[in-house]
Amino acid sequence: MYKTYSIENTFLGRFKKDEDLLQALIDFLEKNNIRSGIISGIGALQKAVLGYYNQKEFKYQSIEINKPVEVVSLSGNISLKEGHPFPHCHIVVSDENGDVKGGHLLKGCSIFAFEFSIVSLDGAALVRGFDEETKLPLWKFLD
Ligand code: ZN
Repeated sequence: MYKTYSIENTFLGRFKKDEDLLQALIDFLEKNNIRSGIISGIGALQKAVLGYYNQKEFKYQSIEINKPVEVVSLSGNISLKEGHPFPHCHIVVSDENGDVKGGHLLKGCSIFAFEFSIVSLDGAALVRGFDEETKLPLWKFLD
């Protein structure tokens, strides 16, 4: 189940200190009307909130990291959810010992510095809808 796309544009930039990382991404996508794309980034956070999807209870548990961390890697994709551009990102962060934690990017990640690469794609956007089996908003393929 997939669609093919061609690259429309590539954005390199950074977000400001103290912004919420997920909200900054959402705002950037809305402002630039990016409905399909690929996201990657690196940087540092003052604190982080990561998500873990509990597959038995079908809900996200949050992992709070209340100290400064490096963003070793953020990767994600962009599609439509409820008519709006929706970034689905996962993130790996490291602490002062180099120990890493990772998970689904949730609100609550306060930026210290963050550099992003966003590739916008040309083609019909994938649309998320409720998936009965996983209880997640997954991409819907009609064919
Ligand atoms: Zn996820």
